[in-house]
Amino acid sequence: MGTTDSTAQQASAQLAHLARYFVELPTTGHTGGPTAPVRSIENTAPLNVDTVSHIADSVREIRDYMTRESPGTLEPLPAEAAAVYDWCLRNTEHDDRAARQRRDTIIYRQYLEHAILTGDKLVVRRHRCPGCGTVGLHWHSGLKAAVCRNRRCTSDGRASTWSLAFLAHEHIQEQERLSVRAT
Ligand SMILES: [Zn+2]
Repeated sequence: MGTTDSTAQQASAQLAHLARYFVELPTTGHTGGPTAPVRSIENTAPLNVDTVSHIADSVREIRDYMTRESPGTLEPLPAEAAAVYDWCLRNTEHDDRAARQRRDTIIYRQYLEHAILTGDKLVVRRHRCPGCGTVGLHWHSGLKAAVCRNRRCTSDGRASTWSLAFLAHEHIQEQERLSVRAT
């Protein structure tokens, strides 16, 4: 339960971070104090357009998940993008374990996507390679995948690559194994 909450909190914080720093450009850098955000959607840089569309896609995916898995949800989709994860958790807490794992996998994968979009490519290094178990993963922007640096870890002669969806699936499965072991 604690894991689910913290995953959703991380995803929510990352999405809020994206909205703050890339959609509403701050007038000072990341290290500066709080400033009134300047909306920059009108005179956009390409990055902002990408980020706006990424945020919209993320919210849409959570909404579609809820339509599919919890069609009886009465609480409306929150107006603030970063609030969708709490909304999703609140309205699915009584779902069965398999459904909660599907939900947590989506939320965790979105957390990874948000982190990479904010420039935190090292986020993939926290995961062991699903192929060889070593910690040499690095993000390849062109492939949009995590690549293993272990030369012996290959598939058809090429370095093993893993999608964020697969890393998220493995991560949630591992969390599940740990929580079962702890009870
Ligand atoms: Zn590997």
